[in-house]
Amino acid sequence: MARATLTIDLDALAANWRALDRLSAQGVQTAATVKADGYGLGIAPAARSLAGAGARQFFVALAEEGVTLRELLGPGPDIFVYSGHMAGDAGMIAGAGLVPMLNSVEQLTRHFEALPDHPFGVQLDSGMNRLGMEPAEWAAVADLVLGRAPELLQSHLACADDPDSPMNPQQRSTFKQMTEGMKVPRSLAATGGTILGRGYHFDITRPGVGLYGGAPFERARPVVHLSIPVIQVRDVEPGESVGYGCTWTARAPARVATLAAGYADGIIRAMGNRAQLHAGEIPCPLVGRVSMDLLTADVSHLDEVPDSLELLGDNQGIDAVAGAAGTIGYEILTALGDRYNRHYVGGAG
Ligand SMILES: *Cc1c(COP(=O)(O)O)cnc(C)c1O
Repeated sequence: MARATLTIDLDALAANWRALDRLSAQGVQTAATVKADGYGLGIAPAARSLAGAGARQFFVALAEEGVTLRELLGPGPDIFVYSGHMAGDAGMIAGAGLVPMLNSVEQLTRHFEALPDHPFGVQLDSGMNRLGMEPAEWAAVADLVLGRAPELLQSHLACADDPDSPMNPQQRSTFKQMTEGMKVPRSLAATGGTILGRGYHFDITRPGVGLYGGAPFERARPVVHLSIPVIQVRDVEPGESVGYGCTWTARAPARVATLAAGYADGIIRAMGNRAQLHAGEIPCPLVGRVSMDLLTADVSHLDEVPDSLELLGDNQGIDAVAGAAGTIGYEILTALGDRYNRHYVGGAG
C-alpha cells in the first residue's frame, strides 16, 4: 500500500488538555477550541477525547461546525461560535443550542430580533482589530446588553506567542477596563495566553493549538505521527539531479528514496530541499522539490532503507516541519490531507 499513515494519538491530546488545565487555578474552566475539524485532526475523535478528559466548553469558528459538534457531544457541553450570529444562522443556533459570540452592533441586533431569549456572548476588541466590538462601541451598548445577561465576554490576544510583547499587558488592561465590574464570566486566553500565566486566565481559557501538540505549548506531547511509504530506492551518480526542475544534484554517489506523499497531502511545497524525514532517529534530508504525490529523500547514510520514513512524530514535531516550510504548526495541521490512512490510537474516540 502506497498510502501514508497519519496516526493521531488521542491519549496525547487528552494529556495536553489536562496539562494546560493544570496551569490555571481551580476555579478557572479550561475549554477546548476545535474549529476547522479539530485543527485538521478530525472533530469527532478529538472532541470526544477532550470531553472524556473533562472539557465542558467548546469553541468553533462557524455555526455549521457547532451543529456537527452538538450531534457528537449531545446536549451537555456549551458550544461557543467565534464568528457570532451571521445572517441565516438563527436556525442552527437555536436548533443546536449554540452560543454565538456577537461581534458587532449589527450582530447584536440580528440576534436579539431573531432569538430574543437565546443565550449569547460578546466578543470585544482589545487591540487586535480583527473581531469584536471596540471600546467606544461597547461602552454605548454595554448596559443594554448586560440587561440581557450574556454568558461570556471574551477578547483575543494578538501576540500571546511572544511573552515579551508589550501588546499582552496592554490588551489585558484594555479588556479589564472594558469588563470592569460586570458580573459575567470572562475569557482572554487561547494557548499562548494560558501559558503567559494566571493573570491572563480570567474565568475560561480556550486553548486550541497546544492541545494538538503545537507551539507555544513547548511541553506538549506530539499528537500526530506521519509515516510515508518508500516506493523505490535508486542510486544516483555524481552530477545527476533529482526531481522537477533538477533543484538537487548529487555531489557524490548517493541513494535516493522516493516516498508516497506530496503537496496534495499538505506537505507544503516550500519545504523542498529544506525539510527532513526520519528513519528511526536518523534524519534523512528531503532533496529536490516536493511533487503532488511524491517526495525524494537522501538515504545514502542508512545501512538499510526502511519501508517508510517519518515526517511527523517524536523526532520532529509540527513546528520543526513548519519552520522548514516558512509557516506555523497550525498550517501544517490544517493542511494535512484526507488521502492518508488515518489511524486513531488511545482515547475514547
Ligand atoms: C483559534 C482561536 C483560539 C485558539 O487559539 P490557539 O492559538 O490555537 O490556542 C482562541 N480564540 C480565538 C478567538 C480563536 O480564533
